[in-house]
Amino acid sequence: MQGDYIVAAGKKGKIEIPKGAEVYDVTGMTVVPGFIDSHCHFLWMGVSMLRDVQLRDTPTLEAAMVRLKEKTKAAKKGEWILGKGWDESKWPENRYPTKKDLDAISKTNPIMIVRICGHLLTLNTPALKIAGITGKTPQPEGGQIDMGADGEPTGILRDCRHLVEPFIPAMTEETAVEGLKLASEYALSLGCTSIGDAGLGAEELKAYQTALAKGYLKTRAYLFLNETVQKQSYEVGIRTGFGNDMIKIGPTKLLMDGSLGAHTAALFEPYTDEPSSKGLLMMPSEALDEKAKAAHRHGNQLAIHAIGDYAIECVINSIQAALKDKPRKNHRHRIEHCEILTAGQIERIRELGIIPAVQPNFVGEWAGPGSMYEQRLGEQRNRLNNPYRILLDEGVTIAFGSDGMPFHPIYGVWSAVNHGIKDARIKLVEAIKCYTLNGAYVSFEEDIKGSVEVGKLADIAVIDRDLTKTKPEDIRDAKVYMTLVNGKILYHKGL
Ligand SMILES: [Zn+2]
Repeated sequence: MQGDYIVAAGKKGKIEIPKGAEVYDVTGMTVVPGFIDSHCHFLWMGVSMLRDVQLRDTPTLEAAMVRLKEKTKAAKKGEWILGKGWDESKWPENRYPTKKDLDAISKTNPIMIVRICGHLLTLNTPALKIAGITGKTPQPEGGQIDMGADGEPTGILRDCRHLVEPFIPAMTEETAVEGLKLASEYALSLGCTSIGDAGLGAEELKAYQTALAKGYLKTRAYLFLNETVQKQSYEVGIRTGFGNDMIKIGPTKLLMDGSLGAHTAALFEPYTDEPSSKGLLMMPSEALDEKAKAAHRHGNQLAIHAIGDYAIECVINSIQAALKDKPRKNHRHRIEHCEILTAGQIERIRELGIIPAVQPNFVGEWAGPGSMYEQRLGEQRNRLNNPYRILLDEGVTIAFGSDGMPFHPIYGVWSAVNHGIKDARIKLVEAIKCYTLNGAYVSFEEDIKGSVEVGKLADIAVIDRDLTKTKPEDIRDAKVYMTLVNGKILYHKGL
C-alpha cells in the first residue's frame, strides 16, 4: 500500500514488493478488510465506558447490585448512579430488577440502570421522585411504565427513557469527545475500521467533528441522524453521503418498535412468555409513512428500527409507499435489526431492494434452544429468527453490526457461523463479507472500502490465526493482531 490506498494485493511471491517497502510477514494469520460495524452506538459506547457502571457480564442480579453498591460508596450526595448493560436472561433470577432492588442500594442517590438492549430501564425511588413518575402518571405513547399491584410504579420503564433523561446531568462535549477517543481505540483493537453510529443529535454531531479535528477519531464513521435534527437537515439541504471518508452523514433514523428482551418488539401474535402483550409500536403506521416519505423525498437513505414481524410489515409498507411516491433506484433503504421475519416479508424485502442491517451477536447471545428468544417467541416462531441462510439464498444483501451488544466483530462472525438455529448458519467467508464489503455497500462506499483490492482504502485487519483452519466453535477465541487504517498501523497487539 502507498499513502491511503492499496496498490497491490495478492499472495506472497505473486506480487511485486516495491523497493524500500516495510514488510510484515503474517504467515499463518488471516488478512481481512477492516471490519465495518454497520449499526452501533459508538459515541455513547465511549461515554458509557467513562461514566457508567458496566453490568453486562454480571453472572447474577445480586452481583450486579454489588457492583452498583461499590460505585455508590464513592458517590457524592444526590449524585446520579448510572448502570448499563444488565441482561436478566443471563441471571439465575431471570427477572428484571425493580425499584426495590435498587432502593436496597441507595435511598438517597438516584439510580438508573439500563438493560442491555437500551429499551428498558429501572429506577429507584429517588430517581422516580426526581422524574415525577407516580402511580398517576399517564402511560406515554409508544412506551410503558410498569405498575405494581399497589398501583405504584415498579421502577421499570419500557421504551420511555425520555421521561427521565432530562433530569440526568447532560453529557458535556468534553466527555463526548473523550468517549469517541476511547471507543475508537477499542474498535481498532478489535479490527474494526468503520462504524455506523445509529442515531445522533446536534451535540453528538459536534463532538464527532471535534474528535476528528483533534485526531482522536481514527475509525471511519457513518452518522445516522435522529429525529431531533432531521427536519433541520432537510431545511439546510444536508443529505446522506455529505462529508468525507472519515465522517459522513448517513441515513435518517426512525424507530418503529422496541426490543424482544423488553417485550416491546411489535409482533403479530402475543409473546409466548407474556401472553397479554404483542409489544409496542413507537408510532402509528401513518406517521411512519409520512416520516419515511419526507426523508426519501429529500434524497436520504432510510434506516428504520424494526424487530418484530408486525413492525417489519409496517416498515416494508412505508418504504414501498415512499418508493411509489417517488421512484428511486439504488436507494439502499435499510431495516435495522429486522429479526423476526415471515416468508412473505423476505420476498418483499428482496423485491424492493431493502437491506436488513442485522446483528449476528444477538443470535450468539440469545437464540439457541432454551434461550431468551425461544422463551419470548416459542420454538416455532423462533425458527425464522434472523434467518441469514435464507436471506442470502434469496439474494438479499445483509450487513452486519453489533448494536454494541457486545461491540465485537469476531464474536459476530462466530455467531453467524454458529447460529443458534442451525438452518440459519452461514459460512465463514459469507459472514466476513457481511461484516466488511456489505457494510461498505450499505453506506454507499463499496467502491472505496470493504475488500482488499487495488485502489481501495488500505483499511485492514490481521487476525492472529488462520480462520479457515479454525474449528467454527473456536472462531471467537481469535484475536486481532494488527489493524491498519489508511495504510497506517493504528493497532498492534503487544505494542
Ligand atoms: Zn441501535
